[in-house]
Amino acid sequence: MHKTIAELSNDLHAKKISSVELTQQFLERIKKLDKTLNSFITVTEEIALQDAKTADAQLAKGQASPLTGIPFAQKDIFCTQGSKTSCGSKMLDNFISPYDATVIKNFKKAGTVLLGKTNMDEFAMGSSNETSFYGPVKNPWNTDMVPGGSSGGSAAAVAAYLAPGATGTDTGGSIRQPAALCGISGLKPTYGRVSRYGMIAFASSLDQGGPFAKTAEDLALMMNVMAGFDERDSTSVDHPVPDYTATLNDSIQGLRIGLPKEYFGEGLESNVAKVIEAAIKEYEKLGATIHEVSLPNTTLSIPAYYVIAPAECSSNLARYDGVRFGHRCKDPIDLEDLYKRSRSEGFGSEVTRRIMVGTYALSAGYYDAYYLKAQKIRGLIRRDFIDAFKNVDVLMGPTTPSTAFKIGEKTNDPISMYLSDIYTIAINLAGLPAMSIPAGFVNKLPVGLQLIGNMFTEARLLNIAHSFQTATDWHTHTPEGF
Ligand code: GLN
Repeated sequence: MHKTIAELSNDLHAKKISSVELTQQFLERIKKLDKTLNSFITVTEEIALQDAKTADAQLAKGQASPLTGIPFAQKDIFCTQGSKTSCGSKMLDNFISPYDATVIKNFKKAGTVLLGKTNMDEFAMGSSNETSFYGPVKNPWNTDMVPGGSSGGSAAAVAAYLAPGATGTDTGGSIRQPAALCGISGLKPTYGRVSRYGMIAFASSLDQGGPFAKTAEDLALMMNVMAGFDERDSTSVDHPVPDYTATLNDSIQGLRIGLPKEYFGEGLESNVAKVIEAAIKEYEKLGATIHEVSLPNTTLSIPAYYVIAPAECSSNLARYDGVRFGHRCKDPIDLEDLYKRSRSEGFGSEVTRRIMVGTYALSAGYYDAYYLKAQKIRGLIRRDFIDAFKNVDVLMGPTTPSTAFKIGEKTNDPISMYLSDIYTIAINLAGLPAMSIPAGFVNKLPVGLQLIGNMFTEARLLNIAHSFQTATDWHTHTPEGF
């Protein structure tokens, strides 16, 4: 298997390799292999080599942190000072960010290397990476297939080892679903755990940044850098940040696993179900006990999400008006023409659809019927989880109902596309942490096991995932040719 972040960190600290050498190796892999995958929008070669030199100096002085000198890819939704931050949209194709997102700042402080910015669905709206202005990303396990979305570029880059780790954001599943479809590990933290400052907003009450890597251990190392209170984000939570690596090896003897019966019913492909059942058996062998639980409002999660997320996006995306930054149409005749043409030229069709749905749902006379109702449903969904966690420590089930689907297969059927997040969306509505880890394969395509925890139990989730990865080797498989 390609080396993990933990292994690369040991090599760097033992001076077996320099950060410049390591960075060059990844830049070469990107040059050679990303023509096929299209996982990067921008490769920041110069910045990367400069970062690597700085890191080598820190390593030489013995002032290095565990991640000093490690190259990372950042989703193109995080603002990076001085380089393009497009959010996958024509609207921001010309946008050079004047400041760093807090997440980027934290990675810088840790001495890491910025390899580049990864491809994504436009403004993080999508489940397949096909809505990107920069073209679809291919799944390294089978390049006819989607990598999932919206953080598909990050997931494909890590799966193909164009970066040992990457960031993503998850509003309704965009870390977990692509992690599952690309056969890697991904964590969506508790809402408020990772700063949203400088992370371009889609649906502010749902968006949350998190890490992708091959292993849970690597995710823990990344969380040590990413998590924490940020006074610049009013929804950031001032809650103690543990050392996420400290409890990785704790015993999971006696762990109570809840299986939500709604996650194993109609719509779940039978081969995927078999892989998940085998993974649960593995947990039993490790000393866990299994309990059936119910999340009765699961079927309401997609309808509620597709009112709340578009409503918030219609408000967040109002700032792209052609005036201050982003795309501006040529020769507007008046202000209205400037707004109209800049927006219709700058936004793709999925983003436009969401803005229209959201504007409708928030309009006078419809607010109570749609937005308010959806918020009430959100309360019910949260209650389901609170009740479930009275009797179990963690919930498990499939991350997605099927493995990766073909590029183009669902583009004309938004509802079937929306259904690929059926097992992930409720978690965002409830604000809980959850992750996806590789659990096996169906027809050579990866299957992800989802682990859902109670508020701020990321360290426990990582421990539970790490125990599985100590006993199995699904996370070590790599796609042929990469
Ligand atoms: N697929 C979902 C959507 O299109 C979730 C996207 C996300 O998590 N960013 O909205």
